[in-house]
Amino acid sequence: MEAKAASTSSILQAVMAGRRIDETEALRLFEDASLPDLSAAASAVRRRLNDPARVSFVVDRNVNYTDVCNVYCTFCAFYHKPGSRDGYLLTREQLRRKAEETKAVGGTGFLLQGGVNPDLPWSYYLDLCSYLRSLGIWVHGFSPVEIQMMARLNGLGLEETLRQLRDAGLGSLPGAVVGGILLGILETFVSAYVSSVIRDVFSFSLLVLLLMVMPTGLFGRFLEEKV
Ligand code: SF4
Repeated sequence: MEAKAASTSSILQAVMAGRRIDETEALRLFEDASLPDLSAAASAVRRRLNDPARVSFVVDRNVNYTDVCNVYCTFCAFYHKPGSRDGYLLTREQLRRKAEETKAVGGTGFLLQGGVNPDLPWSYYLDLCSYLRSLGIWVHGFSPVEIQMMARLNGLGLEETLRQLRDAGLGSLPGAVVGGILLGILETFVSAYVSSVIRDVFSFSLLVLLLMVMPTGLFGRFLEEKV
């Protein structure tokens, strides 16, 4: 145990000194480093790389534009099946009100996610992005499975789908949570296409969109996969 602790400590010292650690060292930190030690090292790196007196953040609001979904995740208590009378789709007026409420408390954007609603046309998503941007709301939106559904709907492929969403007003993509959940829990039936979405999103966003996409540390069921 002592050898492991010393090793963890030396790795964190190296991190704070600016050395990039390798996969084995990262795995050791995942397994053995305490949260307070990791937090202290992360703060030290932040202070080294940025103005120590300045910390930035955004205030945004989680908005689920629809709860109609045909994915049927077994853990999900949120969705309603397509055709259900209890399902909802937010109206423009409801979206506008949420935008005003958000801005009134200093918020700047929506983290926008829905169910995978088969009743919505491709144009809905483009209109949704452009409408929110017209309200002054930064759109941080859509999970990999929603993007995949849109690409199937429009037949344009992932890259063109992302390009049109970006041009309509999509500012950035979340996905860490949903992608991690999908890969970790639903792998048996969705991993192939979700993995392909993630790969294409990474590739496209890094090369073309420069979108902020999912911290990879949240993906994977095993620590080795997260690393
Ligand atoms: S995709 Fe999202 S909304 Fe649909 S069932 Fe799964 S967790 Fe629920």
